[in-house]
Amino acid sequence: MAKRVAFRTCPLCEATCGLRIETENGHVTGIRGDVDDPFSKGFICPKGSTLGALHDDPDRLRRPLVRRDGEHVEATWEEAFAEVVRRLTTLVATHGPDAVAVYIGNPNAHNFANTLAIRPLAKALRTRNIYSASTVDQMPKHVACGLMYGHPFAIPVPDLDRTDFLLLLGANPLESNGSLATAPDWPGRLEAIRRRGGRVVVVDPRRTRTAERADLHVPIRPGTDAALLAGIARTLFAEDLAAPGALADSVAGIELVERAVSGFTPEHVAAFTGVPADTLVSLARELAAAPTAVVYGRVGTHTTVYGTLAAWLVDVLNVITGNLDRPGGAMFAHAAHERPRRLQRSFQTGRWHSRVRGLPETMGELPVATLADEMETPGAGQVRALLTIAGNPALTTPDAGRLEGLLAGLELMVCVDPYLNATTRHADVILPPPSALQKSHYDLAFTALSVRNVSDFSPAVFEREPGAPSEFEILVRLAAIAAGLGADADPDPAALATATLATEIAKAVDDPTSPIHGRDAAEIERALGDRPVEERLLDLMLRTGHRGDGFGATPDGISLAMLERHPHGIDFGPLEPRLPNALATESGKVELAPPSLIADLARLEQALDTSALDTAAAGGMVLVGRRQLRTANSWTQNVPVLVRGKDSCVAHLHPDDAGRLGLEDGATARVSSAAGSIDVPVVLTDAIMPGVVCIPYGWGHGLPGTRQAVAAGHAGVNVNVLTDASVVDPLSGNAVLNGIPVTIVPA
Ligand code: SF4
Repeated sequence: MAKRVAFRTCPLCEATCGLRIETENGHVTGIRGDVDDPFSKGFICPKGSTLGALHDDPDRLRRPLVRRDGEHVEATWEEAFAEVVRRLTTLVATHGPDAVAVYIGNPNAHNFANTLAIRPLAKALRTRNIYSASTVDQMPKHVACGLMYGHPFAIPVPDLDRTDFLLLLGANPLESNGSLATAPDWPGRLEAIRRRGGRVVVVDPRRTRTAERADLHVPIRPGTDAALLAGIARTLFAEDLAAPGALADSVAGIELVERAVSGFTPEHVAAFTGVPADTLVSLARELAAAPTAVVYGRVGTHTTVYGTLAAWLVDVLNVITGNLDRPGGAMFAHAAHERPRRLQRSFQTGRWHSRVRGLPETMGELPVATLADEMETPGAGQVRALLTIAGNPALTTPDAGRLEGLLAGLELMVCVDPYLNATTRHADVILPPPSALQKSHYDLAFTALSVRNVSDFSPAVFEREPGAPSEFEILVRLAAIAAGLGADADPDPAALATATLATEIAKAVDDPTSPIHGRDAAEIERALGDRPVEERLLDLMLRTGHRGDGFGATPDGISLAMLERHPHGIDFGPLEPRLPNALATESGKVELAPPSLIADLARLEQALDTSALDTAAAGGMVLVGRRQLRTANSWTQNVPVLVRGKDSCVAHLHPDDAGRLGLEDGATARVSSAAGSIDVPVVLTDAIMPGVVCIPYGWGHGLPGTRQAVAAGHAGVNVNVLTDASVVDPLSGNAVLNGIPVTIVPA
């Protein structure tokens, strides 16, 4: 096979960098950043160059595995699906649909075909036990934005390229490359803020790489960001610096927020957060004085018991300083495939509750922190089977030790996954998807969170193994199997896929806001050609989106074919103000004071005098997580180049704490919480504030029955053995991964 160069968007993280991939004889010979990509301009991180290694990884499964007599053995696709049919049919017939749970892992957000297939699959399964990685670290933002803007995906992002002042909390984009704010080259973009005379301030318990490159690092006690944000809001009101400006007519409830934060005086908040009162006040004044400014919070703010409050207060500050929806502030991206938002009904959570703990549903799913309860507790609706799709909950969800133990006792486990890992080792059937380079790619999720309006489509670089279905086909086949469990259902996957397309076309021609309203559905279907169904679904979305060609109605509009003619992507320019059109609230305004958030603020105010102070006063330690540049949660550790060098799964501890606890640099510590205990090597560093221990997540490989040789050689320990699933953020059900009380002794 000849040498070839392909251009595609990296699917490994939210930064969506353009890659230039050289191939020969079906293998990657080199990957560089695509200098002609108008968004990433050649930026690449160490993970981006490993797509070839991931594709060629000998441990990556190419054929299904079925458990026979306790061993995983290779099977044909027909044998594997037949096993699913046989066992799922019996299980659902005996115990009902809620006996099957689904866990949707983070990589699905980087896979448009899965995004499109999972909804029909969940519908066909008719189970309420849907779980995902969203309730591990990001549901608070969805809930806060749903309540404020009417839509859980109406998430404003920091306009990094034009802001004069950036306040980051609980975010380390120099390691994560950004999250819920898509921007290739965060290092360059942050540096550019400073070069043009702006300032970057990082609030974090740890002097992270991002904090080291900032103008100011403000250490804060883990789990207390919401109080700091409320204190800044209170100061802005008290000093008459709250100035929503042009936003005033678009926002409801400012006075309610002013009243609700009135008790968060700088002194009161200082005692709780560890941030001195004068630092808090100067942050408030800087925010107010900057020509443009933006506050951005991420994992560290969301994965606490006040996660939704913190997510909301970030946006409260952007609103009351007049920085929402203006250049240099927090702005709404406008993905090319987006259609006008229409109010269907007010955003709601808690339309149903989990069986055991009564935790509220959000966006159609239940908190993953209660999945183990649902497996463990007998009774009608007990989870007896689990379908995982690109997820490794045994390593990445709270109280993972308990969950891991329960997986072994399930009656059926089916995993769509390329690896035999800590989770899938318990599977009865593993259905491996193609590698990332064998799939076409479009960022459905991240173009809606992007700091510039861009659009890219990447065709597959390599063909699939002979006879191997696409991931979309795997999921549709599972949906057809699930649908076949009902009396009148059609168990033919091809029919289900085309029926899904027909339904979407029918919706578009019926929608008065669609450019193809009233058109002939058959004509639209013909115009979509004979691509794979998932690409036709995507093309339909693009052509009926606000930049679409409307199937001829707007000749210079976009289509999938047009994106294919632009292999480096299309840049539609900087973000533009979008109020009120970005909103889906009943009032047509930004709802700044949703009653549930105002009520929850009282819980935080009550805590100001208690919890964090108690832990600190008792000399206790709290745990925080750590993001690492060379890992993507748990699944890139089987790439040699990403794990070489010193093992990085180590606990960071302040030298003062280490001295008090009798630990030396390099010693092994036993870290224990209410959930469990792990032994981990210690590295002493003054980059972590006293009273805090920091351990990275995504480790704990090499368990019996796994098949990831490289990862097993760099196993590390699973920090989620320590995270406590019994504690969640009450408004979103999100897991609490930061600020967990722990004890530490020499092992
Ligand atoms: S920053 Fe993210 S998108 Fe860019 S190359 Fe690295 S992993 Fe890929």
